[in-house]
Amino acid sequence: MNRHDTAVHSSSPSSGLSTELCAAIAEIHRRGWCEGTGGNFSCVTKRAPLQLLMAPSGVDKGKVKATDLITVDCRGAVLEGMGQASAETRLHLTIVETTGAGAVLHTHSQAATLLSRYAMVQGQDGQPASAKEAEQDRSGCYLRMQGLEMLKGLEGITSHNQNIAIPVFDNDQDLDRLSTRCRPHLQEAPYSLLISGHGLYVWGRDLKITHRHLEILEFLLEQHWRQLLLQAATGIGGLS
Ligand SMILES: [Zn+2]
Repeated sequence: MNRHDTAVHSSSPSSGLSTELCAAIAEIHRRGWCEGTGGNFSCVTKRAPLQLLMAPSGVDKGKVKATDLITVDCRGAVLEGMGQASAETRLHLTIVETTGAGAVLHTHSQAATLLSRYAMVQGQDGQPASAKEAEQDRSGCYLRMQGLEMLKGLEGITSHNQNIAIPVFDNDQDLDRLSTRCRPHLQEAPYSLLISGHGLYVWGRDLKITHRHLEILEFLLEQHWRQLLLQAATGIGGLS
């Protein structure tokens, strides 16, 4: 198929999505979750063949304009736009292919960077809760949260008593290898995964829901490290 048959042009319906994605990136940057060139953000514009609209590599995420966005194919090759695709595109594609998500938002927030390392170092958070989890990845590591009303902002969660276990993976500059390790966990993950010392990946049915999931998960991560500090300071357990 001719490349121009599949390209998404600025006059297409996705131009509204470009504006929406840039607004989301600007807001995420304003919240301090993607300082400098950190993080990356994508939306599905076509399912068959798969195409993503995303921020290019190496740009200041506080200054991304609609004309800066690139369109990539299912191999991460740039179909449209002047920028380069980030190596992290591979993990965005894996998440979209595996979960059917309509968007992926990846932040380098303080809380995600801190807690992903904490979970990896701390044995108690990292132990698989069930035999199924253990079977999925014997070195599996999870950050668990429960008892919080804000959990209900995640699709499918209806009570604060439900708990979530965010899978945590060692950082790896080989994104093909990292994506292969993440893939078996994605269907059961609570719309999110953590990369140790690196950041958070969040997804959802569309950009709006994914942005809501991101705000919820960043809140939950903030809450979690504050709970840990309070517990350490007071000796009162049961907060997390
Ligand atoms: Zn990153």
